[in-house]
Amino acid sequence: MEYVIVGAVAGALTAFLTVKVKALTLPAALLAVVIILCSCVFGGWFGLTLLLSAYLTIAVVDRALKERTSSVFKSINKKSGPRDIVQVAANGIPATVCIVLYGITEERAFLVGFSVALTEALADSIASDVGVLSKSEPVSICRFKRISRGLSGGVSFLGTASSFAATVLCALLYFVFFKNMGEALAVLAFGNLGCLADSIIGDLLQEKLTCKKCGALTEKPVHCDTETVHASGIPGLDNCAVNLLSNTFAAGASVLLLIW
Ligand SMILES: [Zn+2]
Repeated sequence: MEYVIVGAVAGALTAFLTVKVKALTLPAALLAVVIILCSCVFGGWFGLTLLLSAYLTIAVVDRALKERTSSVFKSINKKSGPRDIVQVAANGIPATVCIVLYGITEERAFLVGFSVALTEALADSIASDVGVLSKSEPVSICRFKRISRGLSGGVSFLGTASSFAATVLCALLYFVFFKNMGEALAVLAFGNLGCLADSIIGDLLQEKLTCKKCGALTEKPVHCDTETVHASGIPGLDNCAVNLLSNTFAAGASVLLLIW
């Protein structure tokens, strides 16, 4: 009962603040309340701490860098402005499923899966927000050629280093709570593996579009006020789908390995 109250209060506060500062749309904030409540009820203080740390870090970094990154994201990415419910779902559902399963089964592998999913979502978000600030153009992870800043599949030293730092902090938090080195290392390893998967899927499979007017490669359906045309990747496979895929892959792989 204690956790239901704590979770509900934390959820309501987060929803109020994120909508007020326009970090989330209202439906996205309501889904966030459900995710926070589940994390707290089934994951206790650890679940709440990891989730809120990840969410708040994403929101703060996003906001702090907004002025410097928004021009890039506005031109390249499909979604700019407050994060919507689909974005929150793509980054929050795998973790929520894991923590509910942990609550039901008490199988520790699901607690690790929950932590991996959140670690990956945080690291991926940090990598793209901070990576965009890199002085040199990012390199396509599979094709090894330089591509435009902000385009999915591009990696930079700055982005990779900052996302690695985020995974170390999550693994440390896990260790502080549970004093289990093996599981903390699994969080570190699978969190990074998920980020790698995100970049590879983003590079090879995510749909890229071309602007007919200026010729730029983008992820937006409209560029220079004209409809863009398909350039590469699987039609309809956008950044949210890629996030969901890599997040599910990372969490799922860690659960399977730990159970096995
Ligand atoms: Zn254009």
